[in-house]
Amino acid sequence: KLYNMVQDLKGNIRVYCRIRPSFSSESKNVIKFIGEDGSVVILDPAKPQKDGRKDFQFNRVFDPTSSQDEVFKDTQPLIRSVMDGYNVCIFAYGQTGSGKTHTMSGPSGGSTRDMGINYLALNDLFQMSNRRKDIIHYDIHVQMVEIYNEQVRDLLAEDSSTIRSCPTDNGLSIPDATMHSVNSTTDVLNLMKFGEMNRMVSSTAINNRSSRSHSVLTIHVHGKDTSGGTLRSCLHLVDLAGSERVDKSEVTGDRLKEAQYINKSLSCLGDVITALAQKNSHIPYRNSKLTLLLQGALGGHAKTLMLAHVSPEEDSFNETISTLKFAQRVS
Ligand code: ADP
Ligand code: MG
Repeated sequence: KLYNMVQDLKGNIRVYCRIRPSFSSESKNVIKFIGEDGSVVILDPAKPQKDGRKDFQFNRVFDPTSSQDEVFKDTQPLIRSVMDGYNVCIFAYGQTGSGKTHTMSGPSGGSTRDMGINYLALNDLFQMSNRRKDIIHYDIHVQMVEIYNEQVRDLLAEDSSTIRSCPTDNGLSIPDATMHSVNSTTDVLNLMKFGEMNRMVSSTAINNRSSRSHSVLTIHVHGKDTSGGTLRSCLHLVDLAGSERVDKSEVTGDRLKEAQYINKSLSCLGDVITALAQKNSHIPYRNSKLTLLLQGALGGHAKTLMLAHVSPEEDSFNETISTLKFAQRVS
C-alpha cells in the first residue's frame, strides 16, 4: 500500500530494466550484481574493481532468467488500468539485439510460445471485458504504425504507403491510420502477422529497417456502462528503434540520416518524459513525430512505463551504460 502511495507521489512514470541472457561463451559479462530491490551494478572491464563500479536504481529489474510471464505480471496492473479509462504508454528502449522485440512481440518465427506483452495485454483485456460484460460493454480496436525517418506508415493498411500525419489534439488516435476491431486473440494474431509482413516488405529495400524504425501498436478501448456512461482510453505499446550510437566517421548518406533521425527522436522522448517527471510547465511534445503522436497519452493522468533493455556482454559495455543512463534520467 505504501509502495503504491510512493508511486503516486512520484507521478506516473515507472522504469524497469530487463537484462537478456548472454549468448556468447567467450565474452565476459559486465553486469555483476542484480538486486531484489531494483538495483543494477556494472563493472567497467577496463578499470580495476573500485573506480569502475557504476550503480543504477530502477523500479524493478528482470535478470536474464526472467520469463515473459514474469515481465507481464509486473506490467499487468498498468495495462488493466486502461479498462478504467487511463491512457498508458509502454516503451521498449535499448540497443539493437538487447531484446526489445522479444519483450514486446515474443520470439520471431510466429510460434505462440513465449508471447510478448502485445499479445498478453490484448488477451488480458479480452478476459477483463468478458468478466465485466454485465456492467460494461467494451469495444476494442487496434492501430499499428511505424515511424521511419520521421515519416509515419500504416502497417495495417492494404496499401501501406506513407500516411499523412497531422498533429492531434488528444493523441488518442493516430490520424489516418486504419482502425481494426478485434474480438479474439485469433484476430490479434492475424493482424500482427499482417503488420509484420508489411514491415518486412519495406525492409528488403532498406536493409534491417525494422531496427531503424519505431513501431507503435495502439489499443483503443471504448466502454459503455448500463447507465449510459462511457469511457475512452488507449494503450500504446512501442518497440523503439535501436538506441546504439553510430560512428559518424563510418556511416554516410542514408545511414547517417537514419541515425540522426533516431538520435533526435529518442532524445526528444527522453526530454518529454524528464519534463513530465519534473512537472515542468512546458513539455516539448512537438520536437518529434513520436511524442506528437503520443502526446494525449503522455502526461496528465496518463501512465508511462519505460522498459530499458540491456545486453550483458562485455562488448556492449558502452551501450549498456548509455541505456542505463537514459533510463535513470527519465525515472
Ligand atoms: P531487439 O529487438 O532489441 O533488436 P531482439 O528482441 O530481436 O532484440 O533480440 C535479439 C535476439 O535475442 C533474438 O534472437 C531474441 O529472440 C533473443 N532474446 C532477446 N531477449 C531474450 C530473452 N529474454 N530470452 C531469450 N532470448 C532472448
Ligand atoms: Mg527489434
